[in-house]
Amino acid sequence: MNFDLTPEQDQLRDAVRALGRRYGHDYFVTKARSGEHTTELWDEAGRLGYLGVNIPTEYGGGGGGITDLAIVCEELAAAGCPLLLLVVSPAIAATVITRHGTEEQRKRFLPGFADGSLKVVFAITEPEAGSNFHRLGTVARRDGDDWLLSGRKCFISGVDEASYVLVVARTEDATTGKLKPALFIVPTDAPGLTRSKLDMEIVSPENQFLLYLDDVRLPADALVGESLDAGLPALFAGLNPERITVAAMGAGTGRYAIERASEYTATRKVWGGRTIGSHQGVSHPLAHAAVQVELARLMIHKAATLYDAGRDLEAGVAGNMAKYAAGEAAALAVDTAVQVLGGAGMTTEYGVATLLGAVRAGRIAPVSREMILNFVAQHVLGQDKSY
Ligand SMILES: Cc1cc2nc3c(=O)[nH]c(=O)nc-3n(C[C@H](O)[C@H](O)[C@H](O)COP(=O)(O)OP(=O)(O)OC[C@H]3O[C@@H](n4cnc5c(N)ncnc54)[C@H](O)[C@@H]3O)c2cc1C
Repeated sequence: MNFDLTPEQDQLRDAVRALGRRYGHDYFVTKARSGEHTTELWDEAGRLGYLGVNIPTEYGGGGGGITDLAIVCEELAAAGCPLLLLVVSPAIAATVITRHGTEEQRKRFLPGFADGSLKVVFAITEPEAGSNFHRLGTVARRDGDDWLLSGRKCFISGVDEASYVLVVARTEDATTGKLKPALFIVPTDAPGLTRSKLDMEIVSPENQFLLYLDDVRLPADALVGESLDAGLPALFAGLNPERITVAAMGAGTGRYAIERASEYTATRKVWGGRTIGSHQGVSHPLAHAAVQVELARLMIHKAATLYDAGRDLEAGVAGNMAKYAAGEAAALAVDTAVQVLGGAGMTTEYGVATLLGAVRAGRIAPVSREMILNFVAQHVLGQDKSY
């Protein structure tokens, strides 16, 4: 068992940490409150190669794995900049195209992922289908060589920043007549694709949207992969990187909150000469949260290692567990940080309550804690499905 990062990964961690700290949580919150995006941070991270660490070298990337991308997600979050677009664009969309795209699609899209100049978001969730992707109602029909897509998607992150959205739709199988999933690379300015911004109680420069697809016409090569058979494996290809990187973002956010709180409680004195951190009623909840975050980090490391070793099934179990653990740990850490900071915890200045909405959402998205428990109950514990 090896808990050490490689020297290159250590360097990556230090470098991303330094970059994140140069921007920091105030920058993130200011952008969110003014309705702007963290474009400067994204572009600089792209120029430095941090957004393309998991893209193969032949397409201009770093040639690393999800372990490397998880480091980038965690360290930016630990600096107070949890960027959800890292999860949807380089983790999900780039992995799907790398593993299941055609060679033409890899050549066309991967260099842009590698330097961060291309953002592709991901749309699976629908208003009616919810957690049950078997009920997807977005349909792709053949029209000559073209495809026509119609349907609705909800909560889709970052559409206003992206050039393309990877849409999960259903197609009719010519041989069986059954509907099966397929992924389409849809330009965000395609005629027939409209969006409306959702008002979310999350302080974030990244927004969520409702998407309406009304006979969006796409060329044949908008379909990911050589044929419709690529659809299901392509969809599953994105899941493990998604779970692992979103977990890393949660762990980083937890670290950030605990650090802010520990600095405060180690110096704040309200009863004579003692710091509030000397009271176990203050230090134990913080220490407990630190233990939970560290346990989650261990699971993330395991999941990423399994994934990078090509052990997808084991990575699936570990990735789900890591996502669950990190989602819970991040929510606990931020809530605890707010509590031990007292009134200061609720101010914008101290920069922890600003994360309450994000960590709460992290227990719901991209996969809810209940659906992870269902997965573990069925696939690890051998229980029957109730649904
Ligand atoms: C901030 C944010 C960003 C998001 N970004 C994206 C994005 O970029 N792209 C995208 O496609 N989606 C995105 N989503 C959507 C997200 O993935 C879904 O919200 C999530 O999968 C839950 O689906 P739902 O909201 O439809 O809840 P529902 O499926 O309606 O579920 C509601 C509740 O019931 C529970 N539940 C449902 N079925 C079961 C069951 N069988 N057993 C036990 N409990 C169950 C759920 O766990 C949940 O608590 C985002 C959501 C948020 C909040």
